Amino acid sequence: MKPIDLRSDTVTQPTAAMRRAMAEAEVGDDVYGEDPTVNRLEARAAEMLGHEAAVFAASGTQGNLLALLSHCQRGDEYIAGQLSHCYRSEGGGGAALGGIQPQPLDFQGDGTLDLDQVAAAIKPDNYHYARTRLLCLENTQLGKVLPLEYLARARALADARGLALHLDGARVFNAAVKLGVNVDTITAPFDSVSVCLSKGLGAPAGSLLCGPAEFVAAARRARKMLGGGMRQTGVLAAAGLVALESHVERLAEDHDNAARLAEGLAAVDALEVDMSRVQTNMVFVRLRAGDPADFSRALGEQNIRVPAASPMRLVTHLDVSAEDVTRVVAAARRFFGAGVRRAS
Ligand SMILES: *Cc1c(COP(=O)(O)O)cnc(C)c1O
Repeated sequence: MKPIDLRSDTVTQPTAAMRRAMAEAEVGDDVYGEDPTVNRLEARAAEMLGHEAAVFAASGTQGNLLALLSHCQRGDEYIAGQLSHCYRSEGGGGAALGGIQPQPLDFQGDGTLDLDQVAAAIKPDNYHYARTRLLCLENTQLGKVLPLEYLARARALADARGLALHLDGARVFNAAVKLGVNVDTITAPFDSVSVCLSKGLGAPAGSLLCGPAEFVAAARRARKMLGGGMRQTGVLAAAGLVALESHVERLAEDHDNAARLAEGLAAVDALEVDMSRVQTNMVFVRLRAGDPADFSRALGEQNIRVPAASPMRLVTHLDVSAEDVTRVVAAARRFFGAGVRRAS
């Protein structure tokens, strides 16, 4: 039985086209700026995202850290969501390595930060306080797409209060495909954007940090300091180019599969799915009955990997097909017995 792994969109295997591009990549020493494939990837990403320049980073975590280090000095502060990746899931890198203090705020239900709360959290210009320098948003946020008019209001607040505006756009292409807009409609209003090639886009590694040329030059300096100068990285950038050219539009398939998975699981009595949160490639499922560890183990016996948790995050991606979704729903039905609700 084909393995189905719904734990994350980071688990994808590089496609045959990617492996071919990697094998044939023209490379050079990227620390000298001489890797033609990396240079092409950076130029292409900057163009797509509507920014002047881009730098290839090892991971999304490194991209966000480079952004923090380039926007902020020691003793500065950034505002971010309490559950945002750049605050909660990156080892406190900004504080540990940059002396940059976070000011976390709760996300709203739709994945936005309340802009009145943001405005109230900006510290007065007074030597008692850290200097609030940066506002970080996340799009998608746990699979949810931020409204375009909200992004415009965030930009206006940043301008009015002299903040830089960073987007953790690990999955921003999912947001663009969902809204049916070019990605630069979402990313151009930000001062900087990080985007992951290794999530839904299916590359084996790498992220890009985009912004003005001067900012990207500062980020490049920070990347070297962090040990991220990687020489012949064209072998990785080649896969990233395939991802950008061939794997953006197909994200719609992942969204369709997530919607189908959500509907199938929501019809099982023992499972609860918040359909309002199913906007892109993520489904959050709560167990009303049964032990999440037993459920996860039972699916595991059928070569289906899901986390042992409730709520349980399930993520569709390049290596999950429509038939796979059917198989997962059938396995869930079997596990919970006959308790399937009729469609109303
Ligand atoms: C995955 C992710 C990142 C970066 O993660 P890496 O594993 O370091 O590439 C950043 N932000 C969000 C929202 C993410 O989901």
